[in-house]
Formats: sequence, C-alpha cells, structure tokens
Amino acid sequence: MNHHIHRFEDKAVIITGGAGGIGLTTAIRLASEGAKITLVDIAEDGLQKAKQQVVDAVPTAQVITCVADVSNEDQVKNYVATTLEAFGSIDGFFNNAGIDGKRFPLPEYTPEEFERVMTINSTGVFLGLKHVLEHMAKQGSGAIVNTASIGGILGWSSQYGYIASKHAVVGMTRAAAAEFACKGLQINAVAPGGIKTPMAAEAMERLNPDDPQAAERQFASRIPARRMGTPEEIAGTVAFLLSEDAAYINGQIILVDGGQTCQ
Ligand code: NAP
Repeated sequence: MNHHIHRFEDKAVIITGGAGGIGLTTAIRLASEGAKITLVDIAEDGLQKAKQQVVDAVPTAQVITCVADVSNEDQVKNYVATTLEAFGSIDGFFNNAGIDGKRFPLPEYTPEEFERVMTINSTGVFLGLKHVLEHMAKQGSGAIVNTASIGGILGWSSQYGYIASKHAVVGMTRAAAAEFACKGLQINAVAPGGIKTPMAAEAMERLNPDDPQAAERQFASRIPARRMGTPEEIAGTVAFLLSEDAAYINGQIILVDGGQTCQ
C-alpha cells in the first residue's frame, strides 16, 4: 500500500492497542505515508504478528514494538523512552488501547468491573497523555488522537464502565487541548461508531450467538449509512488529525459513525 500523500516522512508515531483492529490498520496507513511506528500492546505475540502485517503491507516501514499495559505508569514511561531511543522524537501519538467491558443491568454491575474498564480506558489514556505531552511540550511540536467512541457522547444501557470511561476520554481531550494548544500541539479525539473489528465481531456474537450476521444486519439498519464502518475509515481520520492538515483543529471529538449520532 502506497498513499500518494506522504505527510509523516521522518515522523515517529506511537500507537497503543497497536495489535488490535483499529490500531493495526492505522499503523499501516501511517507507515504508508512515511511514519516510523512504535506498536504498543499488552501481549508480545500479538505485537509480533501486527509488526509483520505492517511490514508486509509497507515493506519500507520502520516498526518497533513495545509490550505495555497502558494502565501501568512505569510501562507507559517505558514505551515513551523506547520510542525516543529508537527514533529520537515523538511526533504523533494514537492513544487508542481500550476494552469493551461486560454488559450488566446496573443492579448486577460490579464496582470491580467498573474499575477494571475505567483503569484501562481512562487511566490508560491519562497516563499516555501525561508522559507523551511532557515530551512534546519540550519538543514544541506534536499531535495526539485519543480514541473515544460514540459511547463518549451517548449513553446506552448495561455498559457503565465503557460509557463512563469514554466520556472521560472526551473530557481529557478538551482539557489537554486547553492546556497544550499554546505550545503548538494539537490534541483531538476520534469517536468511532460500530466498526468491523474483532471487538465488534465479539459484540455481535454476544447479541445473537446463533446468528451474529443477523445481529449485524439489525445493527446496521439503525445507522443512516446502513452499514458498519471499516478500520480504514478510522485510520484515514486519525491520519488527518495527526497531520499538519489539522493544525488548527484542537480539542475536537470527530465522530466517524455513518450518521448514527445525527438522529
Ligand atoms: P481491539 O481489536 O480489541 O484492539 C484493542 C487492543 O488493545 C487489543 O490488541 C487489546 O489487546 C489491547 N489492549 C487491551 N487492554 C490493554 C492494555 N491494558 N494495555 C495495552 N493494550 C491493551 O479493538 P478495536 O476495535 O481496535 O478498538 C480500539 C479502540 O477503539 C478502543 O479504545 C475501543 O474502545 C475503540 N472503539 C472501537 C469501536 C469498534 O466498533 N470496534 C467503536 C468505538 C470505539 P487484547 O486483545 O489482548 O485484549
């Protein structure tokens, strides 16, 4: 894959959740535009497979991997330090790792499950912002995209940790933009609707274990675009938001949802 625009030549970008559906597709997109990539994820084997997929798609890509639990501060510091050692700068950061969490009616939703989802989806994003922004502020340049969700704008039943954590991502995106736009940094969020990734496939299985495709058709019928989105459509938006093309966009939550939140 070779994109005709090359907005990330000589730029280093960290991607958390880099072995997952959206993270990996975004890595391929950014590498195809010349970016050097640090893939961060929780498990080594997934990272090695993801790295291979980036190199298969973009043979010239420079890719390193770093195992980290994004909710562990020492491991966050380590993915920042590892990137600086390998590439000398951090020009872009896709703060994207997240989990879906379980679904329970509120009376059955445990504080432990709430805490688990908040810790990865919100504390993980907070720690990434804190340690990457410390470096970018010194550097005087850089762009960040946090992954929120339409669940950061809307509420739906039974997924309290996910909804709360993604609303927190929306809030932190605005707060970080308010603090760091004056340093020449741009911080925005992408808020995907239903995107066809392994995470979404699992959700469809849960909705209708006998016929996940029927669950998907029903889900799609409620979206104005009448289909789910693709990881490539998120990747294209993230590439734009990390690029100079978006230099005067700050603190925005860009919904990529086929019109789902318009109704
Ligand atoms: P995914 O395929 O499950 O990717 C997420 C990746 O993050 C996985 O590789 C996962 O590893 C990893 N991860 C989980 N916990 C981690 C931790 N503590 N530290 C580091 N990495 C961790 O899901 P995706 O669809 O690409 O999701 C990416 C982001 O988009 C998430 O923030 C998600 O909430 C958001 N999003 C997705 C959709 C959608 O429809 N897919 C919609 C809205 C928002 P394991 O697989 O080993 O757990």
